[in-house]
Amino acid sequence: MDLVMTGTGSPLPSPDRAGPSQLVQVGGRNLLIDCGRGCLMRLAGAATGPAAIERLLLTHLHSDHITDVNDLVTTRWITGFPAAPLPVVGPVGTAAFIADTLTMLGRDIGWRMAHHDDLEAPPGVPVQETAGGLVFEDDVVRIVAAPTEHRPVHPTVGYRIEAEGGSVVLAGDTIPCPALDELCAGADVYVQTVIRDDLIRQVPVARLNDVIDYHSSVIDAAQTAARAGVGTLVLNHCVPTPAPGTEGEWIAIAAEHFDGEVLLPADLDRIHVGPAG
Ligand SMILES: [Zn+2]
Ligand SMILES: [Zn+2]
Repeated sequence: MDLVMTGTGSPLPSPDRAGPSQLVQVGGRNLLIDCGRGCLMRLAGAATGPAAIERLLLTHLHSDHITDVNDLVTTRWITGFPAAPLPVVGPVGTAAFIADTLTMLGRDIGWRMAHHDDLEAPPGVPVQETAGGLVFEDDVVRIVAAPTEHRPVHPTVGYRIEAEGGSVVLAGDTIPCPALDELCAGADVYVQTVIRDDLIRQVPVARLNDVIDYHSSVIDAAQTAARAGVGTLVLNHCVPTPAPGTEGEWIAIAAEHFDGEVLLPADLDRIHVGPAG
């Protein structure tokens, strides 16, 4: 199983970091977690087209995590022959969000169906809402969700994907909480949105300082990783965006609280999950 960082950025646009999304690849299958700014460009960089996505898992409905869902829905639809439905999993509210997205796209869908005789139906986007627990399981992959804590954004979930003897947790935006510890227990790789509250507090802008309330700091993430006994902590969706060359500072802060491997990847970095091979 491989984790491909299709977007490591934060809500603030960056020329180098797309909005938050991650691709998990196992046995030729592609699971996409969140769909932020530039997601399909980064998927192209990972040689993965929208038609190849087996399932989209949304951690929450904050705009930076869903900006490009409409692009995924439309581009998958018009490049499929015929397009397969796009199964979407997310917290309660996801069905309404997808219905709203399809309403937003209604004019375009109508024009394309009027123009192309072989487009016989609008995009199919079946939604599975989850508050936690088993999301999907077959003989290759097991996906479990757990509630996270990102209030006032509520509900939110994190995911644990297990396959080929490995496990990866995609926590999304959350402060530490018991359900997150449980989701992470013994995982090989734990991906956590992190902020540097020490840097943010230096900027006297209340709206920026508000983000401290509902995100894990680097220290929080490292302490969660240590409590849960994970193998590798992946610092992701970093706020503020690390200036090039300062990634080591972030890693060093985490390393004071966690003995395992700590990574701060770039877009399109590929991280192997589980036994070597
Ligand atoms: Zn968020
Ligand atoms: Zn976010």
